[in-house]
Amino acid sequence: MLTQPTLTADSLVLDQSKSSSRLWLPKRVLFTPDALDEPFGQQIYERITTLGLPVEILKNNRLTGLRGATERETYRNGKNTLAVVKAPPGTFRLQPIPPSADWQMNLAEGCPAHCQYCYLAGSLQGPPVTRVFANLPQMLTNTAAYEQPGKVTTFEVSCYTDVIGIEHLTGSLAECITYFGGRPDAQLRFVTKYDQVNSLLNLAHNGRTRARVSLNTDLVARRLEGGTASLEARLTALRKLALPIQQGGGGYPVGVVLAPIMPITNWREQYTHLLDRLAATLNFDCDLTVEFITHRFTPGSKDVLTEWYPNTSLEMDEATRSQKRNKFGSVKYVYRADEMSVLRSFFYTEWRKRFPDAPILYWT
Ligand code: SF4
Repeated sequence: MLTQPTLTADSLVLDQSKSSSRLWLPKRVLFTPDALDEPFGQQIYERITTLGLPVEILKNNRLTGLRGATERETYRNGKNTLAVVKAPPGTFRLQPIPPSADWQMNLAEGCPAHCQYCYLAGSLQGPPVTRVFANLPQMLTNTAAYEQPGKVTTFEVSCYTDVIGIEHLTGSLAECITYFGGRPDAQLRFVTKYDQVNSLLNLAHNGRTRARVSLNTDLVARRLEGGTASLEARLTALRKLALPIQQGGGGYPVGVVLAPIMPITNWREQYTHLLDRLAATLNFDCDLTVEFITHRFTPGSKDVLTEWYPNTSLEMDEATRSQKRNKFGSVKYVYRADEMSVLRSFFYTEWRKRFPDAPILYWT
């Protein structure tokens, strides 16, 4: 079953092979005056200037002038811009986010990666700038009001960004992990496609953060997930996060988000290979869960994505899909019920074969 040599903790520490993602270094970093008034905003400022990145301090708190002459240019500028802002009052009213967690709490909105199926397309408005929140400590304190005694309340921080993709610039994820380390009735959840996890390994998480890595086949990762870490690097990162602290790892409860699942050519072979590699990577006892998410799109996300990635090989053909409506009447396109059922049965069987003790949290 094992398709690659067994990894050891030592080899992982040394193995920064070709596959690591490059650190995102934005060409433009903007700070609003309000963000710079925040002590956490000042910490971000220190990090950014230590990295030698040029900073522009805006005259007021509005982000303007981010559009280019064309949509292409707007996309390119946006993906090269980090804006440090103060989260508006509305962000303190948390939204439920089933099935992934009880509540979402966004430490940033926007992402430096270039996934051609991006979940943010169509849901975040305006140029795809990454906005980081300088008042994060207040946002964290606010989550206490959502905890319920006697129950573990879960908070998802990666709905609108890749938290590790920006961590070297912000330190925001470490701030969250440390905060939730002291909250016995809460759990933090994050997911990433990046692999720079070393700064998280020694944090006092106290088992109250579930660190998840988003995985897909090699081909999907290479073709559709621009700017992210390779599959090999993500597996290495997952192993580091999961390994016991005594063995040099982070000792985190971990998770795999298998997404977006797509019935590409030879999908059975390709996903079998992926699950085999995962089993070889996590060949020790660990607290592991999995979430299965199939590919879907909306009319709005398809419009944005075809503008951003006009040459994409991603299949978004409404004629081959089923329509699903939410309670507000908006439509998304998912795989047909017969196709879903074949996929679901394959993944459930193959997962349970390899990881009988690792719960499947949901299929969607
Ligand atoms: Fe979008 Fe997630 Fe990819 Fe970032 S990592 S581009 S948020 S799908």
